[in-house]
Amino acid sequence: MNIVISGVCGFIGSNLAKRLIAENHTVIGLDNMLTGSERNIESLMTNPNFVFVKNDVIKPIDLDDDIDWIIHLASPASPPKYLTYPIETLRTNSEGTRNLLELALKKNARFLYSSTSEVYGNPQVHPQSEDYWGNVNPIGPRSVYDEAKRYGEALVMAYNRKFNLSTRIVRIFNTYGPGMDPDDGRVISNFVVQALKGEPITVYGNGMQTRSFQYIDDLIEGILKVMEVEFYEPINLGNPEEYTVLELANKVLQLTKSKSTIIFKPLPENDPERRKPNIDRAKKILGWEPRVDLEEGLKRTINYFKELLNR
Ligand code: UDP
Repeated sequence: MNIVISGVCGFIGSNLAKRLIAENHTVIGLDNMLTGSERNIESLMTNPNFVFVKNDVIKPIDLDDDIDWIIHLASPASPPKYLTYPIETLRTNSEGTRNLLELALKKNARFLYSSTSEVYGNPQVHPQSEDYWGNVNPIGPRSVYDEAKRYGEALVMAYNRKFNLSTRIVRIFNTYGPGMDPDDGRVISNFVVQALKGEPITVYGNGMQTRSFQYIDDLIEGILKVMEVEFYEPINLGNPEEYTVLELANKVLQLTKSKSTIIFKPLPENDPERRKPNIDRAKKILGWEPRVDLEEGLKRTINYFKELLNR
């Protein structure tokens, strides 16, 4: 198949592109390089089944080729990045989503939208299943991401209902692994890089807030399975194993054998207290569940960052 991926230089985009190309598909990768890294697609640039187009999805787009799928992953995604680029984040998920939906209609392509566990906000239901509508502050600092993704979902469903476009929505929970940007500001990249450099580990708040961490290969497997079913409502993709941020800090210290200390910093505004996916829908509809546990995933991620820091 001929597959368009927006955000191809990002952590998820580049991993997905590599996997699809390994399965003999052709990928047209779009990115405006706002938060993506050229390093992530270095190994693809000489591959005849990969084409890179430097493009900003907030502008209408047309392509000459026939297209089977459009996968919209472009967006700043870590809290420090979407807070630095609030307007870009809103526009990429609103105007950007619309431009790519229009392209899908024109090309008769199927469309997959990457949404997020952030649509659940600071959840009052635990764990979060897809039928929970969320608890989002519409004007808080995180709203530029949360509300943009919620609007993106609404737009995708509208194109599905009005035009019968074949669409998918995945709600991606915290994901980590090789391909992450060391300066991305997410908890796992921060902790691993700090531990490897012997710098203090920065725990925000008292570290008792929880997250559930999914290894990138599990997510990619889930996305491939979502492409195989005709199911239009959102599907959570995440690993339900839940950890406090402090537990994560200690695990990283143990696995890196680092002598870094733990320091506590203020909790960012509206930082969700807990987050854990209910993945019953993914299990039932896709026959999917994550396979890589935190320890194994962290070991692979530590090796990736070690290599990157030694470059
Ligand atoms: N966090 C932390 N130290 C860091 C970065 C993040 O304690 O250096 C915390 C953050 O406050 C949040 C959790 O780790 O509670 C996950 O943050 P991340 O930015 O990875 O993603 P989020 O799930 O908040 O979107």
